[in-house]
Amino acid sequence: MTPQSSSASPSHKTPSAEGHGQSGNRSSSQCLVVMYHYVRDTEPFSSHGISGLTTRLFRQQLDTLCAHFEPIDWPTFYAWTKGKADIGPRSFLVTFDDGLKDHVQTVTPILHEYGLRGVFFVSGQPLASQMMLTAHMLHLLLAHLGETHLQQALRSYLKQHAPERDWWATLDCVKAVNMYHYESVSRAHLKYFVNVALPVELTRHALENIFQAHIGSPRRWSQHWYLSWDDLSAMQSEGHTIGGHGFSHNPLAGMSLPDQWHDIKRSARLLHDGLGADQRPFSYPFGSFTQATTDLVQQAGFAQAFSTNRSLVASNAGLFDLPRVDTIDVDAVIHEIDLCQTH
Ligand SMILES: [Zn+2]
Repeated sequence: MTPQSSSASPSHKTPSAEGHGQSGNRSSSQCLVVMYHYVRDTEPFSSHGISGLTTRLFRQQLDTLCAHFEPIDWPTFYAWTKGKADIGPRSFLVTFDDGLKDHVQTVTPILHEYGLRGVFFVSGQPLASQMMLTAHMLHLLLAHLGETHLQQALRSYLKQHAPERDWWATLDCVKAVNMYHYESVSRAHLKYFVNVALPVELTRHALENIFQAHIGSPRRWSQHWYLSWDDLSAMQSEGHTIGGHGFSHNPLAGMSLPDQWHDIKRSARLLHDGLGADQRPFSYPFGSFTQATTDLVQQAGFAQAFSTNRSLVASNAGLFDLPRVDTIDVDAVIHEIDLCQTH
C-alpha cells in the first residue's frame, strides 16, 4: 500500500486537557521534553555505559526537573502546541522509548509517587510477533559477550553468510560518533554498524543467530523484555499516553517510501486496534526521519512526532519534528538555560 492510496485514518478523541489553559504566556513558554530508555537497578544495564539510569538517578533527575520546571502531561502539551492551551513559562514532559518492561516495573510506580504522567513509545513487532528488536539484542549481546567477542562473532557470521561484500568498509565513522556521542568511539562504531549501516534483514539474521548461540531463544526473551498489551492498557487507564515507535524499530530514513509507509501504518493500526482510537504521538526510532517521513506519520493518523534533536520545544515548533533532550543531557541543558538568564 502506498501513502497516496490510503484514506483510512483512525477516528480520534479530543485530548482531555484541550481548552483547559493554565496561566502563562503561550508565545514565550518553552517545554523541555526528556527522553528515557532503560530505568533499572539490575545488571546488565546500570553499569555498562548503555544509555540508562538506575532508579536512584531517575528519582534524582525528577527532583531536579520538578525544582526547575512545571510538569505537564501529553494532552496538555499537545493542546499547547496546537495553540489551544497555555502552559507555564518553563514546563517539562517525560517520554520513554522502546516499550521496555522497566517502564511498568520501575518507571510508572515512581512517576505515580511524583504525580507525573508520561508518554511511552512502543514498537509494534514485540507486541505482534513476540520478537526481540535488534537494538536490544545488541545491548544484551554487548553485555554478555563484550565488544571484542561480539565483533568477532559478527565478522565470522558475515564472512560465512554474506561474503560478497566488505561490510565494515561501509561504516561512516563520523556519523557513527555523532549519533552515539555518549558512547566510546569503538562502541559507537559497532552500534552504528549494526543499527544503521548493515541492511536490516542481514542485521536481524546475524543477531538472532548469535543471540540464540550465546544467550537463548530471542522469542522467549521478548516475553519478559517488553510491555504486554495488559501492561499498556493498565498504563493508559492510569493516565499515561501510549505512542507509536515504528513497527520494526528500524531507522525510517534508510527505507524506501513504500517501506516507511508500511512500517508506520502498521504501527498506527496495531495501537488503534489494541488500545483504542485516542490521538497518539509518534517518536522516530533512532531519531531517523526525512521530510517525507513526517508526511507519512501525519497521514497514518499520528497527532505529532518527536525527534532526538537536542533542544527545548517552543510554542511555534513543527508538530512532526519536536525536539527532545536525552536524560544524559538534561543537566547541561538546565545549566545553559540558567546561563542565558543571568546574561
Ligand atoms: Zn527506540
